[in-house]
Order: sequence, then C-alpha cells, then structure tokens
Amino acid sequence: AKRRGKNQVVVFKVNFLDIVSRRMQLEQALREALNNQELDIWFQPILDAKNGRVIGLEALSRWKLSNEQIPPDEFISIAETSGMITKLGRQVFDKVGAALQELRVEYPDLQCNVNLSLRQFRDSDLTEDILLCLAKYKLPPSALHLELTESMIAESETEILPTMQNLVSHGFKFHLDDFGTGYSSLERLKNLPFDTLKIDRSFVVPLRQDDHVMVKNIINIGHELGMNLIAEGVETEVEVKKLLQLGCHHIQGYYFARPMPLEELKVWLTEQTQA
Ligand code: C2E
Ligand code: CA
Ligand code: CA
Ligand code: CA
Repeated sequence: AKRRGKNQVVVFKVNFLDIVSRRMQLEQALREALNNQELDIWFQPILDAKNGRVIGLEALSRWKLSNEQIPPDEFISIAETSGMITKLGRQVFDKVGAALQELRVEYPDLQCNVNLSLRQFRDSDLTEDILLCLAKYKLPPSALHLELTESMIAESETEILPTMQNLVSHGFKFHLDDFGTGYSSLERLKNLPFDTLKIDRSFVVPLRQDDHVMVKNIINIGHELGMNLIAEGVETEVEVKKLLQLGCHHIQGYYFARPMPLEELKVWLTEQTQA
C-alpha cells in the first residue's frame, strides 16, 4: 500500500506539470492566434419551438490549433486570466458585426447573442467598443444581445451594473446565462435589467427522466419576473415537448441545430425558410 501511495504522488506530479506546461504553451499560442486573427466564430440558432422560427443566434468562439480544436471553456479561461479576453472580445464583436450585416440583407430582424466576461467590463470601455462595432456595420443595438453568466453577476454585480445600465439605455438587451447555477436571490434578479433568462442545460437534462420539478420552478420564476426564457442544451424531442408544456418555447440545442460556421449557417437558414 505504501508503494502504491508513492506512485500516486509521482503520477500526480507529472500530470500537474503537464497541465501547467500545456496552459503556458496554449497561452503563447493564443497570443499569436489573436495577433493573426485566427479564431473563428460559430453560430448556434435559437428557435421558437411553437412555430419553428429562428429567433436569434448565439456566437461561440472556436480555436483550431494545428489539428486540435481547443475547447472554448479552456481557451476562454486562459484568455480571461491572461487579460487577452478584451482583445478576443473585440474580434468577436467585429466578426459578429460583419456576419450580421451580411445576414440581415436576407433576414432583416436577425440578432445575435454575444458572451461577455468580467474582464471586458474592467479593462475596456465596453460601451464604446460595442457602439463602434455597430457603427462600422450599420447595425441597430437590437441586433446584439449580451450574455452575462449568473456567476459573474453573483461575484461582481456592483462593478458590472453601471456599464450594464448604460448599455441598456442605448437599447441593448441582456440575457442571464447559465441561469439556476449561480444562487441569485429573486430580490437581486428583480433589480437587474435582464430581458431574458437562459435556463442552464443541467435543468433540461432531468426532463428525460420525467423530473421537471426544478425546471418548472425556474420557468415560473422567469414568468413571475416578466422575463423571456430560453432553454439551453436541448437534445431530445421529449425535452422539447415537456418544455412546451411547461411554458418555455424558446429553445437552443443540438435537437434543432448545432453551432456552425457562417457558410454552413447560411445554407441551414435557407433550408429553414423553405421547409
Ligand atoms: P455557454 O455560453 O453556456 O454556451 C453554450 C454551450 O453549450 C456551448 O459550448 C454550446 O456549443 C453548447 N451546447 C449547445 N447546445 C448543446 C446541446 O444540445 N448539448 C450540449 N451538450 N451542449 C450544447 P461551447 O461552444 O463549448 O462553449 C463553452 C463556453 O465557453 C460557453 O458556454 C461560454 O461560456 C464560453 N464561450 C464561448 N465563446 C465565448 C466568447 O466568445 N466569449 C466568452 N466570454 N465566452 C465564450
Ligand atoms: Ca452563453
Ligand atoms: Ca449557457
Ligand atoms: Ca456555460
């Protein structure tokens, strides 16, 4: 037993060093990728399951390093801790702006959700960055919806709120991402200018086992607060049917569409309008 214990320590140390050096290598590579504008944006449609209409998109960053797709959770976290997220965020706005300008020729009301990190509020003039992007691509504020996670709000509400209110006064809408995972009190939520709650996938999955207690409560909270709801990570027909029964018809997930590159999205959108 003693020997095994010793080996375990060695194994742990090796893995730990691997993790540190992977992170350092990725940070360096990410810096270069940002300098060369090598990151992509993929788009995932959000649908109204009542009528099958596309109500919007979510922009999701993608990074391919050599032949490896680096998971967004991994490189976004590196971008956040290293301070590169502000630069990454500006490239996201620019690519989303360009895509929307093009898409809105055929789909005039199409809008896109963009994910924001705390550091973007801290390290930059977010309002200015966003307004510049809109001006460049001649888009109204209603074309961009901004997503903040519930945990960001829980940690740093006072830091975020002034910029948030400023953006709201310009006509931007905010979506509360990963809702249900961040322990926000109802009192707190009532006082924040969110337009939509995005129900985290962890509450959608139990619907498969006929467990709808949590998701039902969350939907009721949303209705009570007068907010719109989007269910995230919906993969099966059973989930769609139950969400509709429970009063949530805006749906994002693999069941309807996966995130895809712009060119693929254009084809997908054409097929939708023909169907
Ligand atoms: P998120 O904002 O919660 O995005 C939703 C995630 O769920 C995406 O993962 C999406 O691909 C995935 N997803 C969508 N439908 C389904 C489904 O039916 N089943 C399953 N299993 N998953 C589904 P992704 O693209 O890996 O992104 C992970 C996270 O990385 C995002 O979570 C977001 O927090 C962050 N992220 C991605 N792009 C950006 C960005 O440009 N800026 C910032 N700040 N964060 C980003
Ligand atoms: Ca999101
Ligand atoms: Ca989410
Ligand atoms: Ca998430």
